[in-house]
Formats: sequence, structure tokens, C-alpha cells
Amino acid sequence: MNKEFKVRFAPSPTGPFHIGGARSALFNWLVARHQNGKFLVRIEDTDLARSTRESEENIKKAMKWLGLYWDEGIDVGGENGPYRQTERLPLYNAAVQRLLEEGKAYYCYCSADELEESRKEQLKEGKTPIYNNHCSHLTEKQIEQYKSEGRKPAIRLRVPKDGVFAFDDMVRGHVEFQAAGVGDFIIVKSDGIPVYNFAVVIDDASMGITHVIRAEEHLSNTPRQIAIYQALGYEIPKFGHISLILGSDHKKMSKRHGATSVDEYRKMGYLPDAVVNYLALLGWSPKGEREIFSREELISEFSMKRVSANDAVFDIEKLNWINFQYMKKLSPDELFQVALPFLVEAGYVSLPLSLEKEQWLKDVVWFVRDHLYYGAQTPENVKIFFETHPKITDEEKISIMKQENSAVLIRQFADALDALDPFDEDSIKKCFSFLMKKTGIKGKAAFEPIRIALTGETHGPGLYAMIALFGKKKSVQLLKDSLQYC
Ligand code: GLU
Repeated sequence: MNKEFKVRFAPSPTGPFHIGGARSALFNWLVARHQNGKFLVRIEDTDLARSTRESEENIKKAMKWLGLYWDEGIDVGGENGPYRQTERLPLYNAAVQRLLEEGKAYYCYCSADELEESRKEQLKEGKTPIYNNHCSHLTEKQIEQYKSEGRKPAIRLRVPKDGVFAFDDMVRGHVEFQAAGVGDFIIVKSDGIPVYNFAVVIDDASMGITHVIRAEEHLSNTPRQIAIYQALGYEIPKFGHISLILGSDHKKMSKRHGATSVDEYRKMGYLPDAVVNYLALLGWSPKGEREIFSREELISEFSMKRVSANDAVFDIEKLNWINFQYMKKLSPDELFQVALPFLVEAGYVSLPLSLEKEQWLKDVVWFVRDHLYYGAQTPENVKIFFETHPKITDEEKISIMKQENSAVLIRQFADALDALDPFDEDSIKKCFSFLMKKTGIKGKAAFEPIRIALTGETHGPGLYAMIALFGKKKSVQLLKDSLQYC
């Protein structure tokens, strides 16, 4: 029987959930769903100094926000737990004991200074520094001596001295590393904590992982992991190393390039479906020119065969464009839900809202929808409805207000609006058309002063709908106030 297809995402909880981590999680999730296999999540927290529960929570929360639910692992459980590495130490110990008993691993008593010394010597001789095998065949007496000095040993794996570690990477094709460049490396540190390379192999093997898809930075760890698989006689999974994500200047993506954590995008009001769609395209090229994919379409079309080994460049403009495509599909209610937290944060409204106010707000947000690429852009786009526009100082605008007909038109429009009933987009439009006909003022000469009076700008969103949303009182007031410039 074929082994069940199983992939995993194994984050180290040492900081906020990075966009790169999210993409690794997504690729794993997509292949699992595509293959009807399983997606597992475990937490790699053996770096005790840097791992925090807070960061673990942040990662889990962001994964759920993206809709990347897992079938087995942390929180959801399964047959191969526990799923946090610090809770799996007995398992690692058992494997280490076996390797020690079989002579495939040994205690190393070298001090940090001695190792550094040897490293320097090798470098001086122009060699790539590897462990000098000092402790690989110690006598009982030497061991006793080191113990009596109070030295705490690490444990090293015996690695073949020649040959290659080779594998067919799902993204990079055939990859080979010379065994001679690996050397006997530490698998358990002197504090008794196994290193990442060791724990990851025990976990992947015991959890039945068939495909390891992870970031390129782990490529150089793979020969070491293969050495461990071989020493333990475990079946080696397939590996796929996905490329780095670079900023727009083709340097490794960092804070300088803008938001790097998933949570920041959530907070800016991006939509999870759009972020998933965008991340899928970071390195994966679908057939054809299409760029908008629902989750179901991604699941059915995604393939590691079309994942590029070239670095992916994070393009915020493209993310914004994709998010905009998803924003456009939202209903007025849904769009309002995206926008509301930003309106509250900007101090434009406070909760709870009356029904009437809620409806008005929905209309306002819907009115500016063509300008909203993501939620956080709401306040700047609706500010004309909440803030009084600053005094007009711009000479060009003042000269428009001083045109001979502006004052007459503004005054008459204010009066007509004051008397208008019902006060809606359609009746406002008719009212203004009638006024233009009556006064003979039309085109720019009519529209520009009215707009300046109402918004302080010569251009802006649909005039009549905007006046309707302002309401009678505010519109009339703004028009009358603007007469001071005429
Ligand atoms: N814990 C590792 C990391 O966060 C992942 C290791 C792996 O996927 O093998 O980079």
C-alpha cells in the first residue's frame, strides 16, 4: 500500500509569522489538499532562548486567519504527538541512545575554545573547517579524564568521510553535497537539547512525513539530515526547497520593504483570500496568464512542478491589485465590515452605531469603494464626510471662486437644496441641471466652484451622490460658508 501523502509546516516560534513562513505553509497546505493527503503542523521550539508561546500563538492565529487549517499537530492532536519539540525530548533521547549503542554517534568533550582553535588552523591551511574527529575514538581513560575535569559532552554523529549526499529536490532537481564537507556534526548539545537537524529528522520520520517542503535556507541542512536518516535506517522523504522572497530592490525581504508579517497585513485590512492568492503566485507560475484564483482553483491547479527555483520578488503593487479584485467582489455589508474598524480607529465613529448611522456609513463606504485597495485606506477616502475641509488658500482655486458667476450659482444652489424634497442623488442632479439651464452657467464654470465649495478640491467623487450623503444641512452650510471666497 502506498504511504499516505503527508506534508508538514514546522515553524520556529521566534517572532511574528513572516510572509515567507506563510508561503511555505501555504505551499504545503495546497499540495496536501491537492493530493488528498494530510497537512501537519508542529512547533520547533528547541531554541529555548528565542522561542516564545506568544509567537506560537501569533503563528497559529495568522494561519487560521489565512484559512490554512491543519489535520494533525499542535492544538488539534493526532497519533504522533506531542507536537511541540520541547515535549518530545524522550523520543530524541531514545534515538540518540540507539545511535550511541550502535557506535554511530559518540560523545565529544571538546571545549568551545578547542573547537575554535581547530577551526582557525583549518582555515589557515585553506580548508573548509569541519570537526577534526578529536573525540571520535577516545579511550576509557581519556573519557574518565574529561569527566573528572567536569566537561559536559555534546554528542556527534559519525558521518561517512567520502561519497556524496544526493537527492532529487522537487524544486531544484538533482542536488549533491560532498560528504567530506559535512564532518561529524553535533546532534545533541552539551545541555542535552538536540539540535534542529536531529529533532527534525526524528519528527519527520516518526510523523510519517513523505514530502518536506520548506525554505531554501534549509537546503544546506539537508545533507546532514540525510546522514541522520541513513544512520537510523529511516526512509528518506522527498525534499523541496522553495526560494527566498526578496524585496523590490532584490535584497532579502526585511522591514525596510514594508510590512513583513502576516498580522500586519491583517491589521491593514487585507482580505485573507487575496493574501493567499498573492502568496501562491510568489514562486508558483500557473498555466496561462490568469492571476486570480479561488482557493478551490488553487488546490486543483497548484503543482510543485511549476514552482520556480528563482528568487521571488515581493511586489506590494501586485498584492494591492489582487486585494482590490477581491474587495470588488464584496457586498456592501461585507465591505462595511472590512472598513468599520478603521473608521472607529480614525475616530470618525464610535460603537455602538444607531441603525440609521450604520446605514449611512455603509452608503459612504460603498460610495468610495473604487478607491479602496485595502481596509486601512478607508479613512483617507471618506474624510470629506467627517472633517471640515481646510481654508482655501490655493490661488487657482480662489480665482475659480472669484469668477463672475460663482457666487450667484453657489447661492442659488444652496437655496434650491434647502428647499429640495426628497433629498436624494436623483433629485439633486435634476435640481442642479435645472439651475444650470436657468442661469446659463455650465460645464467647468458650474462644477468647479461647487466642488471647491463642498470639498475644497476641484476633482473628486460623484458630485450628486456625495451631496446626498453629506445631507441637506451640511451641504447647504458648506455652500454658504464658501461664499466668503467669492
Ligand atoms: N523550524 C524551521 C524554520 O522555522 C523549519 C524547518 C523545516 O521545515 O525543516 O525555519
